[in-house]
Amino acid sequence: MLPEPVASPMIVLTGVSRIFRRADGQLVRAVTDITFEIPQGQFVCLVGPSGCGKSTLLQMIAGLLLPSNGSIRVADSFVTEPSPERGVVFQKDSVFPWMRVVDNVEYGLKCRGMAKGERRTIARDYLTLVGLSHVEDAWPRELSSGMLKRVAVAAVFANGASVLLLDEPFGSLDYVTKRQLHDVLLRLWAQSDGENRRTVLFVTHDVDEALTLADRILVLHSGRLVDDLGIGVPRPRTADSLLMEEMMQRKHELLAHLGLEGAPAPAARREEMT
Ligand code: ADP
Ligand code: MG
Repeated sequence: MLPEPVASPMIVLTGVSRIFRRADGQLVRAVTDITFEIPQGQFVCLVGPSGCGKSTLLQMIAGLLLPSNGSIRVADSFVTEPSPERGVVFQKDSVFPWMRVVDNVEYGLKCRGMAKGERRTIARDYLTLVGLSHVEDAWPRELSSGMLKRVAVAAVFANGASVLLLDEPFGSLDYVTKRQLHDVLLRLWAQSDGENRRTVLFVTHDVDEALTLADRILVLHSGRLVDDLGIGVPRPRTADSLLMEEMMQRKHELLAHLGLEGAPAPAARREEMT
């Protein structure tokens, strides 16, 4: 039997740190000495308490911020600036209010110089996949917050980026809408296979969201990587999947990292492990 092909790393961080200087002159270590690799096609969630450095890390991978130390490689190139190869969705402001829905979805392709007919076909295909083909000519102000998120997800996939960086994209949505968006996101991600599958880094502080979405969960605490958990539960995952023993165990580990359970503090546990 042939061995399983090993996916090459898409994202490689080596000793990445970032220090900020606050307005009062004090230095803040937002991210400290982070090293990890993400293979092409993996869906990774980055979890940690508020202020632990998640957004800083994601913005460095996006090329929106530079590390103070260390290096970041994506698809074998060092990251020094933003690139259309790395699509970003933030919690707010992912849709341009002055463009109709379909124009929003094809905007990235327009910036890449794709001809109108071709990019419209791609945008329409993605709008169909997220269930919004009936509102392609609507203005964003006419849509609910859940629909706007569908537009943002359609746009980031339509854009053709091989790496998707999502910073709490569904953080402001209600439970039902969030669950629907998980289905939409996973459907689009699983639609392509092999070397065409997008590599996803999804920031969240919602433990159930991470367990529903991820192949792997990286845990940050006080700017440091304190855990790296594989989630082997098969897909599609339902609400019942979260009740499986492996999931419950992972959930307890994650809650402990967030300081919500009486386990030893993450840093202390890390020392025990090494
Ligand atoms: P998270 O996304 O996990 O909530 P952030 O990455 O936003 O955390 O922030 C990590 C730390 O860095 C926090 O202490 C925050 O106050 C600090 N920080 C982030 N951006 C800046 C900045 N531009 N200037 C100064 N401090 C910052
Ligand atoms: Mg953040």
